Amino acid sequence: ALRLAAQRRAVNEVLGPLRLSRDDLVKVQTLMRQEMDRGLGKETNASASVRMLPTYVTHTPDGTEKGDFLALDLGGTNFRVLVVRIAEAGITMASEIYVIPVGVMQGSGEELFDHIIDCIIDFQTKQNLVAQMLPLGFTFSFPCQQVGLDKALLLTWTKGFSATGCVGQDVVQLLREAAKRKRHLGMQVVALVNDTVGTMMACGYDDPKCEIGLIVGTGTNACYMEEMKNVGTVEGDQGRMCINMEWGAFGDNGCLDHLFTHFDLVVDETTINPGKQRFEKLISGMYLGEIVRQILVVMTEKELLFQGKPCPKLQTKDIFKTKFLSTIELNGLALRQIRTILNELELDATFEDCVLMREVCQTVSLRAAQLCAAGLAAVVEKMRESRGVDQLSVTVGVDGTLYKLHPCFSNNLQMTLKDLAPKCNVTFMLSEDGSGKGAALVAAVADRAA
Ligand code: ADP
Repeated sequence: ALRLAAQRRAVNEVLGPLRLSRDDLVKVQTLMRQEMDRGLGKETNASASVRMLPTYVTHTPDGTEKGDFLALDLGGTNFRVLVVRIAEAGITMASEIYVIPVGVMQGSGEELFDHIIDCIIDFQTKQNLVAQMLPLGFTFSFPCQQVGLDKALLLTWTKGFSATGCVGQDVVQLLREAAKRKRHLGMQVVALVNDTVGTMMACGYDDPKCEIGLIVGTGTNACYMEEMKNVGTVEGDQGRMCINMEWGAFGDNGCLDHLFTHFDLVVDETTINPGKQRFEKLISGMYLGEIVRQILVVMTEKELLFQGKPCPKLQTKDIFKTKFLSTIELNGLALRQIRTILNELELDATFEDCVLMREVCQTVSLRAAQLCAAGLAAVVEKMRESRGVDQLSVTVGVDGTLYKLHPCFSNNLQMTLKDLAPKCNVTFMLSEDGSGKGAALVAAVADRAA
């Protein structure tokens, strides 16, 4: 019994810094709100860690949108070209996945955009769409400084892209120039769309209350409809505009330093962008498995796991997948399933080891969901305040594999949000194929507003 008590104490010592109190979360919510306000201010924008980028999307769908559109989806797991038909009866789509060879991702900008046009031509040929001039919506999931719906300067590449001559350039112009080089006249680029915005618009087609978009996949980000009078970085005070928060970078100015544990610091140091995307590194799929792995390494050293036997495999980066968290938390005590995972790691675990591993996974995924909720709480409370209402009813369109497949993430997120923003009644709606559908809807809404 004495040994068990000592072990419990040691476990709590390791996991304690990862357990957030309600006060911690309220503080994160307050800090996010401060960063949002600074990001929206003309003078303060440059020093905010949350960039609050204007998207020039001023309306969500109202169901009267119509027409045939091309859509591109670049920056997610796959590059896709789509045709989206919006009619009274609903939306139908056809799409094709194209490969972007690493040599093209990391070659010259001209090569990259020429390749994209080749894919569009191939797609239009296959779909029998060559004779038409179709409006095109371009989902481009990289941070851009937008100066219009169809004018967006690339701020930086992420996710393995590094094509030269693109940063600082207008991405829409680069695409148009490539079309010109290839003498392709069958398309007209009308809008560039962030994936969060696409997600919000796709859900907005079915639910007019959907005015927030959220992604929790490889990375995390959010967008929402803000009052123009609060957007100091764009001229005009009338109506609303969707703001791409780029909230993954929240904390890059040091304001979240008090939350980072030893494990978070080690994970950050081994990424290709240390010190950057600090909020994202606490939340999204690319990092949760790594955080758990770092905890398991320390617990093994402290002889709290695997009877202190060394496990060299556990030293390998990315060997503990984020999808393992989903399996372990769902079937934490189904030893057979855990064993399959552990065999991959060449570990031999007892029943007690499995119970402790589940506790580690739960701690890491709960913290991620709670932090995401604190961020969202700042967003919905700001919307409620701006609209001068006592109660706000709003829907969040969500995409991302971690949100969709983890057994507890969405529930923990929703419970925490309810606690932190009790005056907001928030519904979550899963987006299906938001990037393609959303880009077409942005093009269609622009068409309607014109
Ligand atoms: P993207 O955000 O690039 O469009 P996804 O939404 O598909 O990509 O998210 C990919 C991320 O989801 C990966 O980081 C992966 O670790 C994580 N993931 C994959 N399967 C699962 C799962 N079953 N449970 C939790 N996370 C998962």
